[in-house]
Amino acid sequence: MSETRVYDLHTHTFYSDGALAPAELVARAAANGVQVLALTDHDVTDGVPEAQAAALQAGIVLVPGVEISVTWGAQTVHIVGLNIDIAHSGLQDGLVRLREFREWRAEEIGRRLVKAGIPGAIEGARARAQRGLVSRTHFAHFLVAAGHAADARSVFKKFLVHGKPGYVPGQWAGLDEAIGWIRAAGGQAVLAHPARYKITATRLRKLLGEFRDAGGAAIEVVSGSHSRDDMFRFAQLASSFGLLASSGSDFHGPHNYYMDLGPMPPLPDGCTPIWQAWGADVPAAGSLSAQTSVIV
Ligand code: AMP
Ligand code: MN
Ligand code: MN
Ligand code: MN
Repeated sequence: MSETRVYDLHTHTFYSDGALAPAELVARAAANGVQVLALTDHDVTDGVPEAQAAALQAGIVLVPGVEISVTWGAQTVHIVGLNIDIAHSGLQDGLVRLREFREWRAEEIGRRLVKAGIPGAIEGARARAQRGLVSRTHFAHFLVAAGHAADARSVFKKFLVHGKPGYVPGQWAGLDEAIGWIRAAGGQAVLAHPARYKITATRLRKLLGEFRDAGGAAIEVVSGSHSRDDMFRFAQLASSFGLLASSGSDFHGPHNYYMDLGPMPPLPDGCTPIWQAWGADVPAAGSLSAQTSVIV
């Protein structure tokens, strides 16, 4: 039964800002006891086919996913899409647009850092972006390596967040737009790591309401970036907004401060897991048909 399986529904590879290749991610997940793994790279799905192939070998279920960057008011929020058909053109057209913005933003971050007296950042970030998508994470790693800060956490505070020299504002997808792409591609939309957004309780309720009304399905209740208190708070909020609950580590690699892959705390009582209606074979858009033969 799906209820007894171990799920990790939020992870990254080097196709975005993770450290591992898809096959390495899948091997680590399987070794750590994950039975259903979603690959959710930022604004790109290129790692999914490799991850699918590796999952087939490893005997685990791979859920095709993506983590879409969204601008909501002045806030960047992340919407995870699960069980998407990665061949869907509407979704892919949207992701192309986001990656074009991302590319311009990377250049602009580089120019602003030059003005702040830090040369070579765009080259340094690109050298770390193994598959071409440049994230602030890559700038952070460059800045740490160049001695501008002690670690990734402090480098964000010093250079890469609002009000700092390497911060570039801009428009990602709209909330409705991102949810629309995910649903058009046959997937379910999940509000990622809601405790990370630095907004008031009132704004948070507004976000949850708009998310649900736009067709959002679930929020991450258990997340690598949630405390125990966050987990119980968001379990309550999921119930009161009639949203399903998801669970994911947000794993980026073995050597960073995010949580490792593997069993996470169970969803608190009262949550309805997003996988409840999936069934044993995680039915979804057509892209999953190849999996059904190996799922027990
Ligand atoms: P981007 O999508 O390029 O703006 O980069 C966002 C990514 O940077 C997130 O997905 C995290 O992996 C990472 N990140 C964001 N904020 C922080 C932070 N304060 N400390 C460390 N990593 C962060
Ligand atoms: Mn990331
Ligand atoms: Mn995120
Ligand atoms: Mn993530």
